[in-house]
Amino acid sequence: MEILEKAKILSHSGKYDSCGPKMCEVKVNSGLGGIYYAKAEHKTCRLFKTLMTNSCSFDCKYCENSTSCKNKQKASYEPKELAKVFNHLHKNLAVEGLFLTSGIGSNPDKTTESMIEAVKILRNKYKFYGYVHFKVLPGTSYDLIKQASFISTRMSINLEAPNKGVLSELSSCKEYKTDILRRQAWLSRFNLSGGQTTQMMVTKHSTDKDVLKMTDWEYTNFKLKRVYYSAFRPVEGTPLENDKPEPMSRQNHLYNADFLLKQYNFKLKEFENVFENGMLPKEDPKLAIAKANFDRAIDINEADYEELIRIPGIGPKTANNILQFVQNKGKITKYEELNNLGTFVDRAKPFIEVDGKRQKMLVEF
Ligand code: SF4
Repeated sequence: MEILEKAKILSHSGKYDSCGPKMCEVKVNSGLGGIYYAKAEHKTCRLFKTLMTNSCSFDCKYCENSTSCKNKQKASYEPKELAKVFNHLHKNLAVEGLFLTSGIGSNPDKTTESMIEAVKILRNKYKFYGYVHFKVLPGTSYDLIKQASFISTRMSINLEAPNKGVLSELSSCKEYKTDILRRQAWLSRFNLSGGQTTQMMVTKHSTDKDVLKMTDWEYTNFKLKRVYYSAFRPVEGTPLENDKPEPMSRQNHLYNADFLLKQYNFKLKEFENVFENGMLPKEDPKLAIAKANFDRAIDINEADYEELIRIPGIGPKTANNILQFVQNKGKITKYEELNNLGTFVDRAKPFIEVDGKRQKMLVEF
């Protein structure tokens, strides 16, 4: 098979791995897909996302690479071929990073050895010192994962499901604890400048509460940089091809809730009062949590940081602006002052008192 043909097949197959909440495919005239604008570390850059091989000996029911998917043209890169394709894209199409994932092939170690070889060629022969996201395959041995950590910026292994029971609905080959969680524990020991991330599929088998519980556990125990969520989409030829897709709004609400856990340090128990049958409400989770949990209006001049960031319309930066203003200049007495400090005043009004006054009542919501 021609190298361009392989590149088309393998970059197409890489689309199911998430490299950001808002990844967006770049249209280029290379004849290939697989180039995305995605957040890599602190900036948005062009990533080439590809599989090393789309052959897989596992049977994940949702996946077009699995043994259970009927209609699939198979392809695999030689390490030097992948390095050559990436080098061409880097030099000619301003691609700044590589997101390298793969099917398992005949076994995870053999495929991982090829992936490591490809990245080594990129680093040593083509002198590419930029961003490499290296996907760990379930069951890969410790020594190979460690070797990959020396040449990668960021690494990840997909959880796919929030617990063992849900994973067993989707795949009979992956063992949740040993194949995945143990590998995450190893990754958390390595010194990766981009840290580790993971991805969970959002399916009918799990509630939002299941997903957020696992997310919280992952952030606490493995210090993950990000958890990515991908709403289930049926793939033609797989055993789940006739299942309904999960709504994208569900994925978006999970990202909003994740933001509260990770960036605002909300505690999981704060969500308890807003779950309905284990699902997040249809509105913004921060607003729902404030409506459910606030039992009084917050005096904006007396509030500490933790109270301020729980008020709708106030984020971490604005909370700090308010605290500094009160400390240095005295009381806030007008909504206009709050507005100038970055508050979305209309959202905040029902939850706050300014100079002893309240304009909207909580019950008006
Ligand atoms: S291990 Fe990965 S590539 Fe293989 S079938 Fe499962 S999800 Fe697909």
